[in-house]
Amino acid sequence: MIYIDHNATTPVSSEVLEAMMPYFQQSFGNASSYYQPGRTARSGLEKARRLIAASIGALPEEIVFTGSGTESDNLALRGVCRAFFGKAFHVITSQIEHHAVLKTCEDLQGQGGRITRIPVDKNGRIDPEDVARNIAPDTAVISIMCANNETGVIQPIKAVSEIARQKGIIFHTDAVQAFGKMPIQVDDLGVDLMTMSAHKIYGPKGVGALYIRKDTNIAPMITGGSQERALRAGTENIPAIAGFAKAAEMATASLEEVGSRIGSLRDNLENQIIQQIDNAVINGHGVPRIANTSSVSFASIDGESILLHLDLRGICASTGSACATGSTEPSHVLSAMGLSPVESQGTIRFSLGKDNTPEDIDRIAVVMREIVSQLRRISSI
Ligand code: PLP
Repeated sequence: MIYIDHNATTPVSSEVLEAMMPYFQQSFGNASSYYQPGRTARSGLEKARRLIAASIGALPEEIVFTGSGTESDNLALRGVCRAFFGKAFHVITSQIEHHAVLKTCEDLQGQGGRITRIPVDKNGRIDPEDVARNIAPDTAVISIMCANNETGVIQPIKAVSEIARQKGIIFHTDAVQAFGKMPIQVDDLGVDLMTMSAHKIYGPKGVGALYIRKDTNIAPMITGGSQERALRAGTENIPAIAGFAKAAEMATASLEEVGSRIGSLRDNLENQIIQQIDNAVINGHGVPRIANTSSVSFASIDGESILLHLDLRGICASTGSACATGSTEPSHVLSAMGLSPVESQGTIRFSLGKDNTPEDIDRIAVVMREIVSQLRRISSI
């Protein structure tokens, strides 16, 4: 089997699993208990917080652990907007965000929020000037993702954060696909809130974190105990959190080496596809992208059929975001970039991981050429 869908999820690495194991049975205590097993769990929790903070240049107390990237996005947006409920408030986001942000914004609309969704150009990038132009006196928060999950395109986060800072507006970025794949230092990026998730970087599923810059005004979304500075109540999932920290530590340490190796494999795959398959277009080619992601549109065929054929030959890829799988709607990201529904439906996302080899790439290129020509022969599109 060749797995090339790492933006959907990654396997838990052995080192991560090893870091998690002690907290299931040996050091199973509740991190809020005073006796020894509780204190061991607490020290595992605080060590994890230090590691995650160090990997992004933050203070440990600026990290709140959550149950997923989705939850972190919800906490960021709902948590900031809560202070504005009952008044008119405004949120600026982009048309290409993950559903965790888009659907949350839709919901905030029902709470009296006004939402501006900034468009993107044909390469999938927003124009920071568009953000500046749309700021209003009641703008509560700006949320622009760091790297897109479907195309890998990196947004001009620093330029947006400067605009937000000048106007004194809180700036959130969803960095789920960027964290561990490109260097991220919160002060360089200038963000106030940043979403991260473990399972995209060889950590376990169901654990995420939100970076919250000191003194940022934010309300909890889940109330109860005083865990995570009362911003996320509930007994902490220490095994998952310890695994997340190990995954972050490993991703940060190997960022350059893994990134350049994966980047050249990705470029090799794209070159082979472009040279050997007619009418194939790389989306977001020519603008900065995270090294592992490639979105390719194949004219006149249906992406779902390509996936079925790939699966029959043991290759796991996807048409776009895993969350949109099963939906018949064309991708909102590709539509925002100006692709027609047919072009969008003929698009495949390859997202590489650290274990992909040059042989995998050659095999995928050969198989893709065969599948595309076979499907085009019988295509009615
Ligand atoms: N944001 C982006 C950009 C993502 O790609 C994903 C997952 O695909 C999420 C948020 C949601 O993260 P999680 O799966 O941890 O809820």
